[in-house]
Amino acid sequence: MKRKFMPFSVPSVGKEEAKAVASVIRSGWLTTGGKAREFEEEFKKLVGAKHAVALSSCTAALHLALEAIGIREGDRVMTSPMTFASTAEVIRYFGAEPVFVDVEPDTLNIDHEKLKRKTEELSARGLAPKAVMPVHYAGHPAEMDGIMQVAEKYGMRVIEDAAHAFPAKYRGRAVGAIGDITCFSFYATKNITTGEGGMAVTGNPQWAERMRVMSLHGISKDAWRRYSSEGTWRYEITAPGYKYNMTDISAAIGLEQLKKLDSLQIRRREIADSYDRAFAGLPFFKKTAVRRHVEHALHLYVIALNPEALRIGRDGFVEELKKLGIGTSVHFIPLHIHPYYKEAFGYGPEDFPEAFGAYKRIISLPLYPSMKEEDVWRVIKAVTETAGRFSA
Ligand SMILES: *Cc1c(COP(=O)(O)O)cnc(C)c1O
Repeated sequence: MKRKFMPFSVPSVGKEEAKAVASVIRSGWLTTGGKAREFEEEFKKLVGAKHAVALSSCTAALHLALEAIGIREGDRVMTSPMTFASTAEVIRYFGAEPVFVDVEPDTLNIDHEKLKRKTEELSARGLAPKAVMPVHYAGHPAEMDGIMQVAEKYGMRVIEDAAHAFPAKYRGRAVGAIGDITCFSFYATKNITTGEGGMAVTGNPQWAERMRVMSLHGISKDAWRRYSSEGTWRYEITAPGYKYNMTDISAAIGLEQLKKLDSLQIRRREIADSYDRAFAGLPFFKKTAVRRHVEHALHLYVIALNPEALRIGRDGFVEELKKLGIGTSVHFIPLHIHPYYKEAFGYGPEDFPEAFGAYKRIISLPLYPSMKEEDVWRVIKAVTETAGRFSA
């Protein structure tokens, strides 16, 4: 029996979002306006931040964050290799250098002890880095106490890539209320979506204002005010900015998603718990750890294959699951083994052995709120039976 292919990810959008979009279209105001402002207000309350700027993507948010803190050509910025293209490419936009630091083997988040050693070493050589960009891998907050201490000691700004980490908490504080600027993603696969979209939040009003201005061509007044009765035709270009604003169409979707946030997260938790129970006693897999002092956003459910218990590698395992109609993914192919970073900075795979070692064993399983109980059981059955067939 050939069953329908189960995609790795499906966004949880429905008639509420469709209705909200239709209403924006009827209003005649499609681009950045009242809905975008409303989305910023609601979002910043949820993460306990003073300022929020709605943007076209998390990549745009990360770029504007580095611009706001004054990253320049030749600067160094510390980050994790276990991340998506965005985190390091935005450093390259300035002609600055991404300096990778290996991850903790259990959470795959940047290792703050190694961050400390590398920052110390660079500072001693007069090459002090300007910023650190932790990535909250899979939705598990990075060790922010250790990271903030290193940052303070060496004068680094902390720009968080929280693309996976809404909503998440570290020692009772929401991700968004910890570092200098925190960047979220509303890409179609993320915990909440606006189709494409992102948000930068900060406690610093100057940085917030700079990001807002630079998100719209460096123009000092919002374009939407120019075309409403409150505005005039007059505007000033204060810097060569970018075009990174969020439309009201996207923001209207985002506002509906926020209303569903609690129920979406409850469903993610139920699915993750079912996986935990099903895989816990088996020798084939290792799940990434969850520290007691965090609230995990449960963006990804990642298993690592145990090579001693299996006669099949990661790539083969992914193929077997595909044959059984289960879509999976791998987060991430570490940045340092991609041709660009390898060639531009001369990295070898073993320069970051934890990231590279994990990469060879990890698989991300489907985890999204619209999965039915039978879908969850189908994944569990496919994973455990495949492991059983290839047991060593
Ligand atoms: C998805 C993702 C991004 C990019 O988000 P966009 O909104 O698509 O720009 C950045 N970092 C990580 C870790 C991601 O997973």
